[in-house]
Amino acid sequence: MERRVFGATGAAVPVIGQGTWQMENDDREGAIRALQAGLDLGLTHLDTAELYGRGRVEESIVAQVIAGRRDSVFLVSKVMPTHATYEGTLKACERSLQRLKTDRLDCYLLHWPGSHPLEHTVRAFEQLVQDGKIRSWGVSNFGVEELEEAVRIAGPGRIACNQVLYHLEERAIEHKVLPWCERANIAVVGYSPFGNGRFPRPDSAGGRVLASVARAHGVSPHQVALQFLVRRPCLFAIPKASQEAHARDNAAAAGLRLSREELARIDAAFPRGPDTGELPLL
Ligand code: NAP
Repeated sequence: MERRVFGATGAAVPVIGQGTWQMENDDREGAIRALQAGLDLGLTHLDTAELYGRGRVEESIVAQVIAGRRDSVFLVSKVMPTHATYEGTLKACERSLQRLKTDRLDCYLLHWPGSHPLEHTVRAFEQLVQDGKIRSWGVSNFGVEELEEAVRIAGPGRIACNQVLYHLEERAIEHKVLPWCERANIAVVGYSPFGNGRFPRPDSAGGRVLASVARAHGVSPHQVALQFLVRRPCLFAIPKASQEAHARDNAAAAGLRLSREELARIDAAFPRGPDTGELPLL
């Protein structure tokens, strides 16, 4: 599994990881098996949040998946903006650690910008780093202005990543957020890489391009999409798969190499659209 340095943390993290949103609605045993198979195959960047199933995903799925193999996992969770006061962030982290049955997170994110002063959240994150409860921290759904404010508050080299919506039909981050993060050495983790299940249909123009590239390599269109989405060195992707076959398919995407010409065909088939200045959320 290809690994990349995760922003300024220096940690080598697999380019393709695993999401866990909405897994409380999936067959629990099947989801656990899929995540474990993913870990076996190197998809060790595991993304969760206190929000997911209101803690149920952390407690009843992820805790079991990482049990006995915590050291090989790059574990990420997120604090909800409504909890992100100084005290609230410390407490939310403690609750996540308890649910996950671990003593630390590898990265802790502010789920999206909220109304509590960011200074307070950042101070809590830095306290958690000092206390050894988190190894690094980052943000999610931050546009350039919010990133600028965050760096002003935290200083350079403190924000590990910005987790943002990124899939073939939603490429808005390529206008400003991605280049900005590249310059600031902040990892960009693309969430919902398959559009939260709304993957381009095989009979659409874009779907036909994906299928033709996939056929040439003997892989799936999903693998082609993933490899396109991590084509720049600061990019990571965290697909969610509750079926083991899907986890295996996603893991195999890391070995795929697309030519310049293939990347250009995919680029043309899924135009990024004009810069509206908005950062899309799911
Ligand atoms: P996604 O990864 O875009 O799509 C998941 C869907 O794709 C599921 O229906 C899954 O099926 C299917 N799938 C996965 N691998 C496949 C494959 N190889 N072939 C065919 N189908 C495949 O969905 P997402 O959950 O929205 O996004 C991924 C993760 O990003 C989340 O789980 C979460 O951790 C994170 N996220 C973060 C935020 C944020 O605000 N920070 C927001 C949204 C998501 P099965 O489940 O049936 O296997």
